[in-house]
Amino acid sequence: MSKYLRKRFGKLIAAALAISSLASISAGAVDSTVAVDAAPVAVLSSNLTSSVGTALTASEITTAEQALAKAKAEAEAKAKAEAEAKAKAEAEAKAKAAAAAKYNTLLSEPVATKAVAYSAALLADDTIKSQATKLGNYKLSFYCPCAECNGRSDAKTAMGTTMSEGRTIAVDSSIIPLGSRVYIDGYGVFIAEDTGGAIKGSRIDVCVSSHGRAYELGIKYADIYVLD
Ligand SMILES: [Zn+2]
Repeated sequence: MSKYLRKRFGKLIAAALAISSLASISAGAVDSTVAVDAAPVAVLSSNLTSSVGTALTASEITTAEQALAKAKAEAEAKAKAEAEAKAKAEAEAKAKAAAAAKYNTLLSEPVATKAVAYSAALLADDTIKSQATKLGNYKLSFYCPCAECNGRSDAKTAMGTTMSEGRTIAVDSSIIPLGSRVYIDGYGVFIAEDTGGAIKGSRIDVCVSSHGRAYELGIKYADIYVLD
């Protein structure tokens, strides 16, 4: 065996050992004529049997080198796919945690008073749609703290709170328990803190600051979600 071939022979053994250590190589992944996946060292021995005392043929060396290159490329592709899958799972977990945090904020932060008005920016998002209880499409009417609207002039709700535009709504408490946080699609979060003689079934009375505003707003329809 020439010095050159002894050197190549050593390289071939190293290649075979490297292949055998790649536990992730699946059957059929490597050229079946080489069959390094089944028993790399045995294959090497088998190849060598015909070469004992003589030189390895150039094709034997080339075949083993090609098999090693292919195995390496496949191992790298697999590692890359695993890293991508892991990154995707982490991104999904992060998005889920962010959605949960956002929903918890809706459940816990004080409901700010605000001018009641429809806004596309206040349409229920996926978090609300997936986590809240949808009651259906409700008829919305509007009322104010005046005696005519509220039946009393102290601006108090059925819960004893002071009525406030942007926070107070009157509901059928047999459907929506008083104290519930209610998301009105296109209007935002409100608190069910009042009731009304005419407010039964799929109907909500939304408190606004003045009789004039209640009259202007008229009647609307919107999907209703109870945040829970
Ligand atoms: Zn009024």
